[in-house]
Amino acid sequence: MLLDKPNTLEINDQRLWDTLMVSATIGPGKSTGLRRLALSDEDKKMRDQFVRWCVTAGCKIAIDRVGNIFARRDGQDASLSPVLMGSHLDTQIAGGKYDGILGVLSGLEVIRTLNDRNIETRRPIEVVCWTNEEGVRFQPPMMGAGAFAGAHEIDWVLSQTDDEGIVFGEELQRIGYAGETDRNPADIDSYFELHIEQGPILEEEGIDVGIVTGGFTSFGAQLIMKGEHAHSGPTTMKQRKDALVGAAVIVAKVNEIGWDYEPKGRATCARIDVSPNKYGIIADHAEVTIDVRHPDPDLADEMYQKALALIPVASKQANVEIALVKEWSFGNVGFNPDMVNLIRSVASDLEVPHKHLLSAAGHDAYHLSEIAPTAMIFTPCKGGVSHNENEHIERSYTIPGVNVLLNAVLRRANS
Ligand SMILES: [Zn+2]
Repeated sequence: MLLDKPNTLEINDQRLWDTLMVSATIGPGKSTGLRRLALSDEDKKMRDQFVRWCVTAGCKIAIDRVGNIFARRDGQDASLSPVLMGSHLDTQIAGGKYDGILGVLSGLEVIRTLNDRNIETRRPIEVVCWTNEEGVRFQPPMMGAGAFAGAHEIDWVLSQTDDEGIVFGEELQRIGYAGETDRNPADIDSYFELHIEQGPILEEEGIDVGIVTGGFTSFGAQLIMKGEHAHSGPTTMKQRKDALVGAAVIVAKVNEIGWDYEPKGRATCARIDVSPNKYGIIADHAEVTIDVRHPDPDLADEMYQKALALIPVASKQANVEIALVKEWSFGNVGFNPDMVNLIRSVASDLEVPHKHLLSAAGHDAYHLSEIAPTAMIFTPCKGGVSHNENEHIERSYTIPGVNVLLNAVLRRANS
């Protein structure tokens, strides 16, 4: 049957919470959070658990070549394209229990709720787990969604390596998620992603739902400095080619760019890797990752150009060669107005306090927005803390957003 008033539906919040708490035991971190890096044993264990849950909920599973998992609940009309909802199940190195995970498991809860009530939809509905959203082991972030949306060549993704030289494609095979599904991204009706805000605004203002209208434009780059291995004593200052100094100049000056554009602009080098990283030895190799973000695309570009202009400066100062080996960009998107309006009208009907927001973080939804009508729902998180084991959410302010997701997906799937 089709409901006359789909906006009256509510999820089973206890079941969602129990499911989140099972996930919270898979790949525990040092304290209260998770360490579930993409394509690790922990990632495999979580994927297996997710697939079991989806199969139990009656879904058909499809896995594509980069390991994205699609769990499909059939609709009445198999010729119609599906409504997708999801996020990611991998975490940061010292990550929380909810970043990404809440979006995927809320999608599962939507399907379970429809099953409970024997509700059929016109369109199929799918819950998706995108591979390697965090970009901790393999860069860039949002890799699976990017490959799906055509931003990255699949063979290129499969050839990427982690710090130990382990190849993405081989690791995907090892954990059993190198799928063969080759689906056409154009066959998607729409994509919804629910995610914790990862910022303080909703909690501070006591608003349960953020309707994301777009993202901060963000640029990333990976630099490799090539210096010369030498004794730190006998080697004169003029002789040395110090890769660590090259990296340090970049790190300090990128930070200054952030300060020049604050409070809206942000710039950092989140990662530095130096070798041999030993006492008494000048480093011959260093890697640095640049990350700049601004809500205004022109200013984000200006910041990024200033960051790139540091390469010859640092190269000269440290007497090293610096190669720009990888670049990426995301966030310069405006989400689909129809989808944004749909979420807003559902939130109004459910009398859930809501406001429009831009996201400063990267999300799989950015890639999806290039190929299908896309929108995001933010729910609050304590103190805006994320990418941290202390990331925390309260049931009271999370469930309203999941109910908005449920009803928005249902309306879209019946349209
Ligand atoms: Zn996330």
